[in-house]
Formats: sequence, C-alpha cells, structure tokens
Amino acid sequence: MKPKHVPERMCVACRRRRPKRELLRIVLTSEGPVIDPTGKKPGRGAYVCPDEAECWAEKKLRRFAGAKAATLSQALFTLLGPAVSEKPSS
Ligand SMILES: [Zn+2]
Repeated sequence: MKPKHVPERMCVACRRRRPKRELLRIVLTSEGPVIDPTGKKPGRGAYVCPDEAECWAEKKLRRFAGAKAATLSQALFTLLGPAVSEKPSS
C-alpha cells in the first residue's frame, strides 16, 4: 500500500510543519485577522498550532500579522485558551 499523502502546513509561530488538519487557519483580512476553522475564507492565510499556547503569543504572530498581532493573540487565547487549560497537566 502506498502511504497516503498528508498535506502539511507550517505554523507561523513555531515554524514546525504539521499535517494541515492539526493546525488552525487564520486569514488576514482588511478588518484584521480572522480565525478560520473551516479553512474556506479567501485571503492571505496562515496556520498556528491550536494546542500550543506559546504559538498564540503576540510577538510570535507579529511576523505574520504585524500591527494586528495583539488582536490576533487575544482572539486565539479567547477561542483556544479554555480548551488547553482543561488538559491534564501530567
Ligand atoms: Zn506552532
């Protein structure tokens, strides 16, 4: 059997390559960054790890979102923060 091709994308924050479906898509629109869980919005997209709080830090997002990095960081923590903090720590 041939190995199935898994599309990979790079997280803009930690620059790790991961299967696309493990990452969360973000689109930079004229109104600012929008989180795009469906992956269908048009525009300049980027991906971040939804399970790594380090990847939602403003300074790591600045390369992609520039001045909008703070807004994006806030949005990511609001959307993903609760899910991650519920994970068992051990
Ligand atoms: Zn990452």
